[in-house]
Amino acid sequence: MQDQLHVDVLVVGAGPAGCTVALNLAPFYKVLVVTHQKPTAKAVGESLPAAASRLMQDMGLWSSFLNEEHQPHRLSKSHWGSSEAHLNDSIRNLDGHGWHLDRHRFDEWILQQARLRGAGFLKCSALNDINFQPYREMWSVEIEVDGRRVQINANWLVDATGRKSFVAKRLGYSPKTMDKLACGWMIGKLSESAEQESEIYAESEGWWYTSVLPNQQRLLAFYTDADLTSAKDAHCHIALLKRAQQLSGLKQTLGQTSFTKSDLKHGFCAANSATLPQYAGHRWLAVGDAAMSFDPLSSQGIFNSLYTGLAASTFVFEELKRNQPRYQVNEYNNALVEIWNTYTNNQSSWYRDQKRWPQSLFWLRRQKGGVL
Ligand SMILES: Cc1cc2nc3c(=O)[nH]c(=O)nc-3n(C[C@H](O)[C@H](O)[C@H](O)COP(=O)(O)OP(=O)(O)OC[C@H]3O[C@@H](n4cnc5c(N)ncnc54)[C@H](O)[C@@H]3O)c2cc1C
Repeated sequence: MQDQLHVDVLVVGAGPAGCTVALNLAPFYKVLVVTHQKPTAKAVGESLPAAASRLMQDMGLWSSFLNEEHQPHRLSKSHWGSSEAHLNDSIRNLDGHGWHLDRHRFDEWILQQARLRGAGFLKCSALNDINFQPYREMWSVEIEVDGRRVQINANWLVDATGRKSFVAKRLGYSPKTMDKLACGWMIGKLSESAEQESEIYAESEGWWYTSVLPNQQRLLAFYTDADLTSAKDAHCHIALLKRAQQLSGLKQTLGQTSFTKSDLKHGFCAANSATLPQYAGHRWLAVGDAAMSFDPLSSQGIFNSLYTGLAASTFVFEELKRNQPRYQVNEYNNALVEIWNTYTNNQSSWYRDQKRWPQSLFWLRRQKGGVL
């Protein structure tokens, strides 16, 4: 026999975007978040811009977030258009400083906020069927939980599955990939005296990002295109370290960090920009990376997850409140189209500022402003 559940909103994915939708709707409606039974790869990305404070205030999360005592991010240094360092100090930012998040703790915290406000969470091993039943005006989703099949009926369905866009793909909407950016990263042990700033450093085949992490650690990440020979270095921590050592600007960072085997963590992941052809449809919408994923140069991924999560919950709240739904998903769609257009304009302008390696395919692709 199949178990059946009925909810107002079914959210698939429990990252920052899914939890934001859940925590904003759960006080008013029955919300269920479906997550993976097996833990997936740990989320990467730790830099949260200062403007996120406004969103957290709007959502009543501010004091709780401050209590988490994430490390302030006050100073960033970039060697971008020239070899000279450009300093960016948060003192000039009206919103104050940003944060170097303890990403695992942040994701746990936001999930806990959704739970505290009444959202239900269910771990599943598989998501089998997703069907819309027009005669009942609702979704019917079949999942597997501990070997049992559970059918969930929901008025609204939210895709918060990150870069996989799992639900949207099942509905026939595949994300359009804009480039081949990938990231090879390693985490080492920081010495006591290390500086607390983050640093961006452009090189001939891509760019580097380095930042302090909690527990006296430092992240060193190399971004390049997955199809270029430089990506081989990004796959292997020894080659990655060797490549970093050849860059004079990273000398100080490397001198302050131990990347010996016992301290080292290493990974490789996609970091490309991508967007769905549409962000919402009849009784469904996508949030966060499932809707659009950004080049990490922007440091906007988590912010966008909070922003689109809040926008989606406001929209669904209004739709559920009306006895006669309007289904004007265009409002949500249009808001996200605007975000995507702003993002792509900014991204083109950042990459156009870098003119030092006119023969490099990595930079040529971006100077031409499109997928090559
Ligand atoms: C290399 C790199 C560096 C980055 N650095 C930064 C940074 O410094 N600052 C920043 O703001 N952003 C950064 N980002 C982006 C940021 O990490 C993402 O934008 C953010 O995690 C998106 O949140 P999300 O909730 O949309 O998706 P995710 O955090 O990816 O969460 C998706 C969730 O859905 C779950 N899921 C997936 N499929 C299913 C399924 N079928 N069923 C159930 N659950 C499912 C996953 O397990 C996961 O829990 C970086 C990204 C990359 C790749």
